[in-house]
Amino acid sequence: MSANSTVEAPAEMGPLDEARAQLAEAATILGYDPDEVAVLAAPRREVTVSIPLRRDDGSTEVLTGHRVQHNLSRGPAKGGLRYSPDVDLDEVRALAMWMTWKCALLDVPYGGAKGGVVIDPRRYSAAELERVTRRYTSEIMPLIGPTKDIPAPDIGTDEQTMAWMMDTYSVASGHTVLGVVTGKPISLGGSLGRANATSRGVVFTALAALRHVGTDPASATAAVQGFGKVGRGVARFLDHAGVTVTAVSDQYGAIWAAEGVDLPALEAHVDRTGTVVGYADAVMIDNETLLTLDVDLLVPAAVEGVLHGGNAGAVRARVVVEGANGPTTTEADRVLGERGVFVVPDILANAGGVVVSYFEWVQANQAYWWSEVEVEARLADRMSSAWQEVLAESRRHDLSLRTAATCLAVRRVAEAHRQRGLYP
Ligand code: GLU
Repeated sequence: MSANSTVEAPAEMGPLDEARAQLAEAATILGYDPDEVAVLAAPRREVTVSIPLRRDDGSTEVLTGHRVQHNLSRGPAKGGLRYSPDVDLDEVRALAMWMTWKCALLDVPYGGAKGGVVIDPRRYSAAELERVTRRYTSEIMPLIGPTKDIPAPDIGTDEQTMAWMMDTYSVASGHTVLGVVTGKPISLGGSLGRANATSRGVVFTALAALRHVGTDPASATAAVQGFGKVGRGVARFLDHAGVTVTAVSDQYGAIWAAEGVDLPALEAHVDRTGTVVGYADAVMIDNETLLTLDVDLLVPAAVEGVLHGGNAGAVRARVVVEGANGPTTTEADRVLGERGVFVVPDILANAGGVVVSYFEWVQANQAYWWSEVEVEARLADRMSSAWQEVLAESRRHDLSLRTAATCLAVRRVAEAHRQRGLYP
């Protein structure tokens, strides 16, 4: 098998069907009628735009972008912007729905949204990406704004993307609008602690989950799939917490070291080469093998659907903590549940990013900046409350953490919707 080979994923539902099935299950437990479920399932607004791009060689190419606002009952829409060749409208709809539940679960006053552009950013120059970002921003301008819809980074985008979006929106508005996006550079109204927030939240829940199943983090081993904005920080902070990280992977390959990877040395290698591949003090393994290693903790921190019906039966980790959005298919969830694997769902585990996005927006709107210590303390507080609430709900009704988390979130959104009433 090549480094990137995967065990053939059986034909399963796509992310949107998965997200809808999760909502349907929660709604059945909550006793909601089908009419109410239909309202909660439907995206509130969606726009698909053409993005004509002038390439550096003078030719023109037309790209496609989407922005989906799933629900606005609890506040402005919130969610990342993804640049990937795999982006499609149904995926963006699913990711937007998950943002609605994530924001409700963490009790940040937002609805859910997501954006995507069908592009492989590695194949374009910085100048081309700037033109794509500015044109996309311009096309979705009527939808976004600090009280309407607030984008943030996701796969393939970063603080530079957010700076271009903020600038494009501000120039069109005639004044600087810091609150229109989050995940901005610190020099442009970003928040201290935002860049690491998702990883910190994942590690917070991972340590809590290990302790919950009776494993001392200091004697635990972990495998982290993905070494990008989320996975890299997860590996680093697990290491700081005393967990032995034995394997990590990125899109180019995976590495394994029985005694634990030397994270500072690996990070230096990745800074030099752009990949974990070729790191000297470890053995190259197959990306698929990483998912089934004999470790206490597995953190999928890349894309959707990596744990599926074809490989979930082989997962040997006791705890799976979802750094990515939607990494576990419904079928894999069922198999893992039957086998007693403790799964911490994405809408809880990776919510640290949007929590600190909320803090960034609050700070930007007030033009008053908090210290990093303050940001991290407030993040820990939010993650801890949500963790306790989800655990209590799962115990009270004998539900998986995913179902418990979805029930809590859906109930909050449905209550807001009922209290506002149906217009007209
Ligand atoms: N893209 C991140 C997520 O999926 C962050 C979204 C945000 O901060 O708005 O949660």
